[in-house]
Amino acid sequence: METTGFTENQMTVREAVATLCAKFPNSYWQEHDQNEQDPKEFHAALAKDGWLGIALPEELGGSGLGISEATMMMQTIAESGAGMAGAQSIHANVYATQPLAKFGSREQREGTIPKIISGEWRTCFGVTEPDTGLDTLRLRTLARKSADGQSYSVTGQKIWITCAQVARKMMLLARTTSLEEVRKPSEGLSLFCIDLDRTSSSSYSPGLDMRKIKKMGGRAVDANEVFFDNYQIPADTLVGTENQGFKIILHGLNAERCLLAGEALGLGYAAVARAARYTCERVVFGRAIGANQGVAHPLADAYMRLEAAKHATYHAARLFDQSQSTTSTTNIRQDAVGVAANSAKYLAAEAAFAACERAVLTHGGMGTPPSTTSSGGCASAWCRGSRLCRRR
Ligand SMILES: Cc1cc2nc3c(=O)[nH]c(=O)nc-3n(C[C@H](O)[C@H](O)[C@H](O)COP(=O)(O)OP(=O)(O)OC[C@H]3O[C@@H](n4cnc5c(N)ncnc54)[C@H](O)[C@@H]3O)c2cc1C
Repeated sequence: METTGFTENQMTVREAVATLCAKFPNSYWQEHDQNEQDPKEFHAALAKDGWLGIALPEELGGSGLGISEATMMMQTIAESGAGMAGAQSIHANVYATQPLAKFGSREQREGTIPKIISGEWRTCFGVTEPDTGLDTLRLRTLARKSADGQSYSVTGQKIWITCAQVARKMMLLARTTSLEEVRKPSEGLSLFCIDLDRTSSSSYSPGLDMRKIKKMGGRAVDANEVFFDNYQIPADTLVGTENQGFKIILHGLNAERCLLAGEALGLGYAAVARAARYTCERVVFGRAIGANQGVAHPLADAYMRLEAAKHATYHAARLFDQSQSTTSTTNIRQDAVGVAANSAKYLAAEAAFAACERAVLTHGGMGTPPSTTSSGGCASAWCRGSRLCRRR
C-alpha cells in the first residue's frame, strides 16, 4: 500500500501492530482454524499492549485516538495474515464499545470499558435476527420492563453473533416497544449492555442459551445462535434513553463500517502482495508468469482498486472522528458520515474480493489450499515436496 498522506499516529499504529502480528505466523492461524480454537493468545497480546482501547477515552484507560487509527490497526491485523479471524476476534471490542463510551452512564462506562480494554472481559454485538437480516428496524427480540421498573425480561433470538462463546458482555439491540405500537420502525428500539451469564462452562443462566454454528471457513472465531426466553436483565443495563436505541447503535455501526472496510483492504493488499511475489517466482513456458500481461495487468488493476477504496475508507474514518470531536468547528451530519462509511465498506469489499479472486487465479492450482493428512504431511501428490507446500 502507498502510505503517503497518512498521519504520524496512523503510521506509528501500523508499524507497532505489524510487529505484534509478526509473532502470530500463518501456521498459528491455520491451526486455530482447523481446530476451531479461539485465538485467545492473540486477543491477550493486543490487550496487554493496550490496543483494544485505541479509540476509547483516556480517562477509561484507552488511548483516546480515533476510528482513523483503529481502522489502520484493523487493516494491519488483516494484512498480517491473521485475516478475518484475527480481525473478528477483537473488532467488536473496538466498535461495540463506541456507543457505550458515548451514551453509557458513568457506572456503565467505568464498570465495563476498562475491563474490556484490559482483556479481562470480551464483548459481542447482538443485532442480527433470523427473520430480519439487513432490515434491522424490523427486529423483534423484546425487552419488557417489569412492573417495579427494576429489570427487563428479554425474549427472542439472535443469529450470527460472533464471539458470543467467549464474551462476558453483549451489546444487545432489542425492542422495548413492539413494532405494532410505534409510529416509525426506527422508534421503540433500545440498546443494552448485558451479561452473558454462565452457570458453568457449557450452561447459562435461566432464560439464556446459545448454539455454535458450524462453518466451513473462519472457524477460529465462533458464530452463534443466541436464544432468550424471559432472560432477566437489570434495568441499569439500558444504554442511553429507552426507545432511542437505533440512533445510539448507528454510532457503533458507522465505526464498524470503517473498521470492516479497513479489514477488507488488509485482505486485498495481502492477496495482491502474495500474488505479485508468486508471479516472479513461478516459471512456466520458460519465463516468469508475471512477464505475461494477462497475468500482470489484472493484479495492477486490483491494486489500483484497493488504492481508490483506501481513500474512501480513510475519508469515512476521518469524517467519523471529526463528527465526534468536541473541539472541531466543522459541523458534520451523521447522515453524511453514514454515506461515507457505507460507501467505504462497499468499495473496499469489492476491491478486496477482486484482489483475492485474482490472487487465487494467479496461483493456478496452488490457489487451492492443500489438504493435510493427520500425520501433518501433505496428502496431495502434486504438491508433495514442493517448495510451496505449506507443511514444509
Ligand atoms: C461470519 C458472520 C459474522 C457475523 N457477525 C455478526 C455479529 O457479531 N453480530 C450481529 O449482529 N450480526 C452478525 N452477522 C450478521 C450480518 O450482519 C448479517 O448476515 C447481515 O446483516 C445480513 O443479514 P442476512 O444474512 O439475514 O441477509 P438478508 O437480509 O437475508 O439478505 C440476503 C441477501 O439479499 C440481499 N438483499 C436484502 N434486501 C435487499 C434489498 N432490499 N435490495 C437488494 N438486495 C437485498 C442482501 O444484500 C443479501 O445478499 C454476521 C454474519 C456473518 C456471516
